[in-house]
Amino acid sequence: MYEKVGHCTECDKTVYCEDGFLDGVHHEGELFCWKCDQKRNLQKLENDEELRQ
Ligand SMILES: [Zn+2]
Repeated sequence: MYEKVGHCTECDKTVYCEDGFLDGVHHEGELFCWKCDQKRNLQKLENDEELRQ
């Protein structure tokens, strides 16, 4: 089964759910595709680095 879940908050890409596997990430009530979630995590890491300096 392949169903549309919604759109990525960041890039507006359609996010699907395939056989119960979500092609993205739900975060604080918002939906992100994998790509944007990775980008978001990288930015978070960079921010953490800055805080440590
Ligand atoms: Zn996206």
